Amino acid sequence: MSVRVRFAPSPTGYLHVGGLRTALYNYLFAKHHGGSFVLRIEDTDQSRKVEGAVENLIRTLRWAGLDYDEGPEKGGPYGPYVQSERLSTYREHATRLVESGKAYYCFCTSERLDELRQKQQALKLPPSYDRHCRDLPREESAKRVADGEGHVVRMKVPIGGEMTFEDRIRGKVTIAHKVIDDQVLLKSDGFPTYHLAVVVDDHHMAITHVIRGEEWLPSTPKHILLYQYFGWDAPEFAHLPLLLNADRSKLSKRQGDVAVEDYRAKGYLRDAIVNFVAFLGWNPGDERELFSLEDLVRDFSLERVGKAGAVFNVEKLQWLNQQHLRRQGAADLVPQVRQLIVDRGWTVPPDAAIERAIHLMRERVTFVHDFVEFSDYLFRDPDQFDPEARAKSWPEGAADRVRRLADRLEGLSTFDHPSIEAALKDLATDLQIKPGLLVHPTRYALSGKTVGPGLYELMEFLGRETVLRRLRHAITNLG
Ligand code: GLU
Repeated sequence: MSVRVRFAPSPTGYLHVGGLRTALYNYLFAKHHGGSFVLRIEDTDQSRKVEGAVENLIRTLRWAGLDYDEGPEKGGPYGPYVQSERLSTYREHATRLVESGKAYYCFCTSERLDELRQKQQALKLPPSYDRHCRDLPREESAKRVADGEGHVVRMKVPIGGEMTFEDRIRGKVTIAHKVIDDQVLLKSDGFPTYHLAVVVDDHHMAITHVIRGEEWLPSTPKHILLYQYFGWDAPEFAHLPLLLNADRSKLSKRQGDVAVEDYRAKGYLRDAIVNFVAFLGWNPGDERELFSLEDLVRDFSLERVGKAGAVFNVEKLQWLNQQHLRRQGAADLVPQVRQLIVDRGWTVPPDAAIERAIHLMRERVTFVHDFVEFSDYLFRDPDQFDPEARAKSWPEGAADRVRRLADRLEGLSTFDHPSIEAALKDLATDLQIKPGLLVHPTRYALSGKTVGPGLYELMEFLGRETVLRRLRHAITNLG
């Protein structure tokens, strides 16, 4: 039997980092086993639906490289893949359960249910339905439905006993039937609840493994009961560990902190985000930390997903971004950097020069935009000199020393790293000073900053004309 898994988001806005992890693990599991990855949109709660959310989800999944085999926009043999287009299937199944005595019509009004809830609250009891309509005579409830009385369909949960199931991550889970509510399956508006729809769809879409967040673990007994009521085999279940903030509280819901698209907009690379998210609950069991999507497909297994909550650590994400940025070919980054230069309205250098600039800086940046933000001087004359560094970087006598250096550089027959280095060191010897007394003011004059790539490489990159122009400008303006 081939593996079939699904990612089943509700389109309530953006794709959360936790959602991306669920999608990723499903994708990795499917691809590792040569199976299929299905996307299903769970939009039966119409009140929570957000315009454009489905398109946004699909766009973000594709950006992450998680292409689904079946789903909306793509189709497949088990469609439609949007729950609001499958309503008649859910209704038929709810009726089937009522007819077989596994579910019942409930006519309780919202006033009655509110009252019940308040009484339970006052007694500090967990809210649950008191099964008021469970034993109504079948003919009576059928007649009330036929007469048009408002109603829902509830599942009949066994009163005593317990159920046990095996979770691929949590192991054996046992839950007493008495803590399971007679769950509403079909609402008064004819829409199914999540619980009915998820079971009907996972069965009809031939899903073999349900891999989802831990928050769904308490619902699983209801789902397993429904499989039994329908006479179907249940899929395997794997519930992923919670995501935590650094202080181990449940991961924030603030969009800016957890929306995948926002990390993308901040300049994080796809490979870094995917690598980072993969490690939120999984690890390869050895020291390796850098993984491409292909590496993950090869090495992923549910056996290496832990039970303990996974901490979301932004510093780790930044480090991974740095590492993945270094792994990318400089030539591949040229279009992005060129675009950033265009966006800033600077003169655009030839691609070969951009590529050399990338080589110069790549060990020092975390984000692609750092190439223009921290090292703007690679592309244009600095318009500011770090004021705090001025006393140290341009001390008394600096102007005179830099003028002598400029004169020597002007006379060089070749202008490259070795010749520049030799010229500077010779001058230091002649002046009987440490080379640093030339290096620091020169860097400051060329870049406005105190740190950056190696000075000689930087000068070779900028070229003689630019170097002399900037040095002379600094001599005049910094005094
Ligand atoms: N629609 C549910 C969600 O958005 C899916 C839960 C499941 O995978 O069963 O989390």
